[in-house]
Amino acid sequence: MTSSDGSWSDGSWSDGTRAVHAGLPEPVVGEPFLPGPVFAAPFHLHPADGPGQNDYARTSHPTRRRLEAAIGELEGGTALVFASGQAAITALLLAVLRAGDTVALPADGYFTVRAFAEGTLRDLGIDSILVPTAGPYPDFAGCRLVLLETPANPGLDLCDIRALSDAAHAAGALVAVDNTTATPLGQNPLALGADVVVASGTKALTGHSDVLLGYAATTDEALAGRIETWRKQTGAVPGPFDCWLAHRSIATLDLRLERQSRNAAAVAAMLAARPDVTAVRWPGLASDPAHSLARAQMRRIPGVVSFELASADRVAKFLAAAELVFAATSFGGVHTSADRRAQWGDDTAPGFVRLSCGIEDPADLLADLTAALDRA
Ligand SMILES: *Cc1c(COP(=O)(O)O)cnc(C)c1O
Repeated sequence: MTSSDGSWSDGSWSDGTRAVHAGLPEPVVGEPFLPGPVFAAPFHLHPADGPGQNDYARTSHPTRRRLEAAIGELEGGTALVFASGQAAITALLLAVLRAGDTVALPADGYFTVRAFAEGTLRDLGIDSILVPTAGPYPDFAGCRLVLLETPANPGLDLCDIRALSDAAHAAGALVAVDNTTATPLGQNPLALGADVVVASGTKALTGHSDVLLGYAATTDEALAGRIETWRKQTGAVPGPFDCWLAHRSIATLDLRLERQSRNAAAVAAMLAARPDVTAVRWPGLASDPAHSLARAQMRRIPGVVSFELASADRVAKFLAAAELVFAATSFGGVHTSADRRAQWGDDTAPGFVRLSCGIEDPADLLADLTAALDRA
């Protein structure tokens, strides 16, 4: 089942198969399929030979290496996991950018990245330019790094990874794509020309709302080395139990995404037909401005739908009336959840909601959301 080098990356298998087998070790009689978490900070060293593969957990750790093998297989590169998505993204930014550099960031992407750029990066003498995900894009002249986020969270605009990678490379810039919302089974930025993927594994990748995780993945071994050195020296590594939980959860990624996407399709169609819903975005809707790009670039459409009600009060009534929708930030989990983004200071409308469809029964979810909107 596994190739001679121990990796399991035969490109001929489909998503469900790849997710179940990603990163598993060679079968050993009497051993588990996925070995449990190894709880160790230091490991026994050879008394004379010194450091081996397992010496100190900040540098390398067996449970973490297995998770990295799994994510690397799915993204198509070398993966390095971090304690959170923000740890992975800031590791990339700080490993690559130097005083006098300019980075292009999504104006409508994950807001903590913009806050980091406007605070820490600016203080370090690193400029940032903010570009809306849907464009128009500048020519990237003078940019060291271009970070794209597609679909962008929370507005769900898309951008063309291949075309923008070509343009950025022509200007001498590196291209990073935040692949959090799509996950590696939804979109493969490295195959589309990006140099590096960064992502939060807290969302759909692990999907059970119980783990904080991040990763960077790249086919550029020199870049992987710089990021790994950064991680070793700054220390934002996930612990063994989180790595094991994440790895265990990836086995069901295909199944979870399939149900989330199906639920989102039904919910988006229902929302689009309601007069009290003033705006709906889901790239899978034929009427969505990003639909044709989504069909060309993505392998599946995520379970996240964004929509607007007339006011914050309407959203509160909707959330109170819904039995199957948890009011919560984050998204991509097995439980349907909704977040009114303006409560966090986002520049979204007061009635803007990011709805993350879980894996509940589609008919139950649709009935509950419809009834809750009717009562709101
Ligand atoms: C959540 C998120 C992050 C940050 O990830 P954490 O795991 O919360 O640190 C980064 N990018 C996007 C698109 C996200 O949704």
